[in-house]
Amino acid sequence: MKIHNFYAGPCILPQEAIDETISALKDFAGTGISLASVSHRSKEFDAVMLEAETLFKELLDIPEGYRVIFLGGGASLQFAMVPFNLMNKKAVYLNTGVWAGKALKEATLFGEVVEIANAPAGDFSQIPTNFTIPTDADYMHITTNNTIYGTEIHRDIDCPIPLVADMSSDILSRPVDVKKYVLIYGGAQKNLAPAGVTFVIVKEAAMGKVNHKIPTMLNYLTHTKEGSMFNTPPVIPVYTALQTLKWIKKEGGVKEMYRRNLEKATLLYNEIDRNKLFKATIQGEDRSLMNICFVMNEEFVSLEKEFLKFVEERGMIGLKGHRNVGGFRASTYNALPKESVQALVDVMQEFEKMKA
Ligand SMILES: *Cc1c(COP(=O)(O)O)cnc(C)c1O
Repeated sequence: MKIHNFYAGPCILPQEAIDETISALKDFAGTGISLASVSHRSKEFDAVMLEAETLFKELLDIPEGYRVIFLGGGASLQFAMVPFNLMNKKAVYLNTGVWAGKALKEATLFGEVVEIANAPAGDFSQIPTNFTIPTDADYMHITTNNTIYGTEIHRDIDCPIPLVADMSSDILSRPVDVKKYVLIYGGAQKNLAPAGVTFVIVKEAAMGKVNHKIPTMLNYLTHTKEGSMFNTPPVIPVYTALQTLKWIKKEGGVKEMYRRNLEKATLLYNEIDRNKLFKATIQGEDRSLMNICFVMNEEFVSLEKEFLKFVEERGMIGLKGHRNVGGFRASTYNALPKESVQALVDVMQEFEKMKA
C-alpha cells in the first residue's frame, strides 16, 4: 500500500534526498567510507558544506552581505541566540502561536519584550493586523508559518526596525524577499532535512552590535567566520539538506514549489469547505499553505476517531491534529506530492457518502 505522509515534522522529504543519503551512508563521494564516519574536515565534506550555502543562496536569491550557516540545537536554540546576538535593550515579538510564544518567552531573559498579539490573548486564529511597531526596539521577531495553528504570514512585511523570522515550517516553500530581514532561521526537519540541523540566514552587518559578551558557541560570528565548521557540524543532516536543495532546483526552484503548494492547499481547503462533515479551523487569507487544520462539524464530532482510522487504513498517516487544536492537520510540505492530497480528498468524499 502506498503511504501518504502528512506528519508535521519530522516529515516527508524528497525520496531522492533520502536515496542519495542512503547511498552516501554506504560510500560517501567515492571515498570508500560512510558519510557517518567521514571527517568533517575532509575536502569531500568541505565541498558539501560550501555547496549547501551556495545553493541555499541561489534558490532564495539571497543578496550579497548575507551568510547561510548550519548549526545544531534546533530552532529552539535560536529562540535564545537571536536575542543574545541582536538585543541590547528591547525587542518586539508578534505572538501568533505556540512557537512564537516560546521565542517571546526566551527573549524576556535578555531584555524588555513588547508583545503584539490578538485580543483576547490566546486567539491564534488569525495574524494580528493594524499594529504599530515601536521604532526604538532593536528588532522585531515574527513566525511566518504557525505549524500548530495553521496560520501563515504570506508576504514579506515592511518593518521600520530590523526584522527576524522563524521560518522553520515554510522555508523554501515560496520566494522570500530576504533583504527585508536581518535574520531568518529554522529547524530543518520540516522542509529540508532530518532533525539535527538548523539553518540561519544572517545579514553580516547585523552581527557584533550588542554591548555584552556572548559565549563562543552562541555567537553567530563564530560560525560565519568558520563556515559552519567551528566545531563538528551535523554531517548527515547537512548532507541530506544539500540533496533537498538540489531536488528543489531540479524541480524548478522555489517559484515552482510555491505554485505546487498553492495548488495542493487550494485543493484541500476547497474540499474541507465543501464537505458536510468537516470545517477548517482557520478562515480567510491567513490560512497556511503548509499545515492545513480542520475539525469535524459539530454534529459529526463523534466520528473523529473513526475517520482517523479510516484514513490510516488507506495509508494516510500523521493526520491527527495537534493536541492544542484537536481534529486533523494535513502538512503539505514541498516534498508531499499532489497525489497524496488528492488521495485524502477522495477519502474525505468517500467518508461523507457513508456518513452524511
Ligand atoms: C517545529 C518548530 C520549531 C521547533 O523546532 P526545533 O528544531 O524542534 O527546536 C520552532 N518554530 C516553528 C515554527 C516550528 O514549526
